[in-house]
This record gives sequence, structure tokens and C-alpha cells, in this order.
Amino acid sequence: MVAQVVRTAAELRAASALLLAERGGRAQGLVPTMGALHEGHARLAKTAVEQNDVVVASIFVNPLQFGDAVDLDRYPRTLEADVALLEEQGVDLVFAPSVDEVYPGGEPLVRVTAGSLGEKWEGASRPGHFDGALTVVAKLLHYGIPGAGLPPAGAFVSGGGAGLPAYRAYFGQKDAQQLALVRRMVADLNFPVDIVAVPTVRSAEGLALSSRNRFLSDEELEAALVLSRALRLLEARANAHEPLDLDSAQALVASQPLVALDYFDVVDPGTLEPLAENCRKVPFRGEGLALIAAKVGPVRLIDNAPLSS
Ligand code: AMP
Repeated sequence: MVAQVVRTAAELRAASALLLAERGGRAQGLVPTMGALHEGHARLAKTAVEQNDVVVASIFVNPLQFGDAVDLDRYPRTLEADVALLEEQGVDLVFAPSVDEVYPGGEPLVRVTAGSLGEKWEGASRPGHFDGALTVVAKLLHYGIPGAGLPPAGAFVSGGGAGLPAYRAYFGQKDAQQLALVRRMVADLNFPVDIVAVPTVRSAEGLALSSRNRFLSDEELEAALVLSRALRLLEARANAHEPLDLDSAQALVASQPLVALDYFDVVDPGTLEPLAENCRKVPFRGEGLALIAAKVGPVRLIDNAPLSS
């Protein structure tokens, strides 16, 4: 099936409403991306196609979430290849709006603030990043509401009740803090959508796929593997109900000279607060999330592993 590329919110609403009606559809899925797509994004799209009658993927490099204009400029833009990859997964509509379409009056005056959850970890090194990301996710979630425009106030029932189509949006576990924040935004602000998390897709060697990996040299790619190795060490200890011994996992990362560690900790998956003693010398019990971020050469990489014991 050919994917239709639409550039405006009006075109998107008309095209998705038509498709949903044609198919007698009960469910619509949205996959927000910034393009430069790889197998990780493909997994999100495939999952959405399996679970919904109509699937929209958006491609928008959001200026609001980049602190650094150079980083924004050099973010890869590969629309043609992206559309082909999404088409292959069975995506129906690719929403690729311009910056003017999304922010017609320039930068928005009113924005979503991520609060304290957005100030730690990634937020600490990228001030304002999550406010910008949540603001565009809020807009994208609204653009993608199934049917022609917003349902009548109070009529939406999550999960397709009351005769309305279900609405699901797909996010990668790869960006664990973003996922936690999107879940909180949707819960705290009553967004009419179910958030579906998709596990991280990795290279055969274990490196989490990222649009930024293309900026790594062969040597740096090899060095970057220490991130997933260190996470796997923690996973193995959690599975064996052993103390996580975070110190030795941190030492493993520190032993790789091309990797400059920013943070590596085990946190509560909901609050993202460090788990303190639970991860060091006592056998690990319960749920945790190991978060890691490091600069490898010129590129900042993040990865994580949900832990359960
Ligand atoms: P991005 O285009 O980088 O903003 O990512 C768009 C979506 O794809 C986000 O929900 C990411 O978490 C998800 N994603 C990125 N990389 C991966 C990966 N390696 N595995 C699974 N999902 C991913």
C-alpha cells in the first residue's frame, strides 16, 4: 500500500477520517518521530499497524526541543527514505508539516512544562528540552485524534468505548524519560489517548539504534557498546536476585577512554528518583530502571534497561 504524505493538519484530519470511515475503523494509531528513521522507528510503526485500522506517522524536527541551533541544523533529514520505510510497515499517512504549520505565530506563548520530572537526568544537561518535546507531543496528539477534528466535549472514552474509535500513540522505551513524561502529561492533563511503549531495538552487538549513531566513527561505534554491556550486567544481576553492584558497572564504563559518562544510575520507573541502597549491596527486589547517558566522541548517547526481580 502506498502511504499518503500530508503537510497540513486540515489535510491530515480529512484523509484520516476518510480512511477510518472507508474501513469501518475502530482504532487509529499515531507514531510521532523526527525522521531519519531506522529499525527502531520501524518497530513502532509495525506495532501500530498490527493494533489499529488506520496509522499515522508524523515526521517533524521540532525546533522547540533543541537548545543548540547547530544541533538542530545538523539533525539528519531524509524524508524520501523515511516515507519508504513507513510504507513498508503499512503506515497509511505520513504527516510531515512545516515549522510554520506547527507554529504559525512563531514560538508558542503557552507551553507544556515538564515540571520536576523534566529537570533531572536528560533535563539537567538539556534545559528546556522536555518542555519543548512535551509541547510538540501535545500538539501532535491533538492533530492525530481520529475522525474530523475534536470529538464533542466529554464524549471521548479511552479504548474505543461509546462508539468512538480507540486512539493509541506509540513511543519507544529507548527514550525512557520522555516516555515517563508523556505518560504523566496524558494522565495529568486528561489527553484522550492510550500510550503504548515499544521495547528498544538494538544492533546485533547491542547498541541501541539512534538517528545520531550515523555520526560515530567505527572506533566510536565499538566504544559505544560499553553502554549496553554495562546495562546487561545489571539486568543479569537483577534476574539472578543479586545486588546490582552499580559501582562495578560504572567502573566498566569508566574504563573505556572514548566514552565520557554523564550519568548512570538505577531509578524508580515512575518518579525517576534514584533507588539508593537497593541497587548497591543488597539483593535487588522489585522494579527499577537503569539509566545511562554518555558522550562518545561528538555524540551524546542515552540508553536504559527496565529491571525486574
Ligand atoms: P525520534 O525520531 O528520535 O524522536 O524518535 C521517535 C520515536 O522512536 C520515539 O518514541 C523514540 O523513543 C523511538 N525510538 C527511537 N529509537 C528507538 C529504538 N532504538 N528502539 C525503539 N524505539 C526507538
